[in-house]
Amino acid sequence: MADYDYDLFVIGAGSGGVRAARVSAAHGAKVAIAEEYRVGGTCVIRGCVPKKLLVYGAHFAEDLRDAKQFGWDVPEPCNFSWPRLRDNVLREVDRINGAYTATLTNHGVEILEERATVSGPNQVTLASGRTVTAGRILIAVGARPAIPACPGHEHGITSNEAFHLDAVPKRILIAGAGYIANEFAGIFNEFGSKVTLINRTDVILRGYDESIRDRLLQISMLKGIDFRFHAEFEGIEKGEDGCLTVTMSNHEPITVDCVMFATGRVPNTDGLGLETAGVALDDKGAIKVDEDSRSTCDSIYAVGDVTNRVQLTPVAIREGQAFADTQFGGKPHRVDYENIPAAVFSHPPMAGVGMTEAQAKTKLGSVKVYQSDFRAMKNVLAGRNERALYKMICESETGRVVGLHMIGPDSPEILQAAAIAVKAGLTKDDFDRTVALHPSMAEELVLMR
Ligand code: NDP
Repeated sequence: MADYDYDLFVIGAGSGGVRAARVSAAHGAKVAIAEEYRVGGTCVIRGCVPKKLLVYGAHFAEDLRDAKQFGWDVPEPCNFSWPRLRDNVLREVDRINGAYTATLTNHGVEILEERATVSGPNQVTLASGRTVTAGRILIAVGARPAIPACPGHEHGITSNEAFHLDAVPKRILIAGAGYIANEFAGIFNEFGSKVTLINRTDVILRGYDESIRDRLLQISMLKGIDFRFHAEFEGIEKGEDGCLTVTMSNHEPITVDCVMFATGRVPNTDGLGLETAGVALDDKGAIKVDEDSRSTCDSIYAVGDVTNRVQLTPVAIREGQAFADTQFGGKPHRVDYENIPAAVFSHPPMAGVGMTEAQAKTKLGSVKVYQSDFRAMKNVLAGRNERALYKMICESETGRVVGLHMIGPDSPEILQAAAIAVKAGLTKDDFDRTVALHPSMAEELVLMR
């Protein structure tokens, strides 16, 4: 490797790239990382982190409404300042961006704040025109929002811009019914927007357990979010007053103040020079990789959303760690993609690990399903008619828990702990042998019938 400028050149300083760069450097490799926007990537700069902070902000709306039942008089009207929340959130993003940058620097990783493209199996060209060589190149450039090609699409925004809005839109239309659509529907609804969510089918959050998805749909509708199904986007027209009129199949046009696309994400492989090194892409434009994250070019690897395996930050981080340990640490290992927990930070949130009931029936044939459908104590006193639902799916013969799905307050926090038991292959009996922690919502996990 002595002939190269670097042992490792990482393109993209998001969750996967930063972990790979830092750990490779700690293993003794000479590492550079190029980032064209901001260190931290989607999760830190315009994804998980600022979104979760907005979710916290939105939750106050419900808590303040419920406060009276708990003895607190909240003055009415109770004002909400979007600019204050937005600016505080963006400041926190800046802080984490600084912390990520410092971590890289402290580990001796050279940060190049410019776009880099591949110009050969061991060569990278920087926007400034400089060319550098590396023993290995790691592509960790992530993905970007997909925008449907309809007339007037340029009038819409994506989640990227949602964090920077001047004001909360009075009426917002969100296209898509996946993670981002449902999370932002909850956020804007709590901030007082009239939210309409439109989707091309009548399935929200495909991949999640049906009962849990249905419960979210039911609660979201009760909260006032409008859903329009079997609605294909046809176009957006901007009026003189700045309002946007959206036309769609099977429904009347709707006029709103903001349109947000949340219709999936596409890998950022355009113009990256991958063809110069024979790196093959799949039909979605994602980099094809093997179990060691190696592309079809021996010296080029890829981790995270650009590979379109599981688009989650903790997965990208594990892929980056496995890459670094395997290539530079003498500790080869691979990412285990079984039983990855995931959550949707909707209102209320939902979370799941393992197979859905439908998947388990297809794969295992016979399964046992246990459920707990209850109203959280806090919701009862608040007079909030919102029920939580926990669902456990077990292999019939052994009782092994193969899926655990829930919707209700704090469900992601509860599921993370329960996912350890599912990952460990524990059974329904193991759960039942554990004494309930009362009063809690999580106790329902050991009381399911
Ligand atoms: P999702 O894949 O979750 O949802 C995309 C939605 O858009 C689906 O409802 C899909 O419908 C619809 N859609 C896709 N293509 C089109 C199209 N051409 N026209 C109309 N509708 C379309 O994507 P998101 O953008 O919400 O999120 C991207 C990824 O980011 C997620 O898959 C997730 O991995 C990650 N993420 C994770 C979060 C978390 O962990 N909490 C939060 C946010 C994002 P259909 O079902 O019919 O395909």
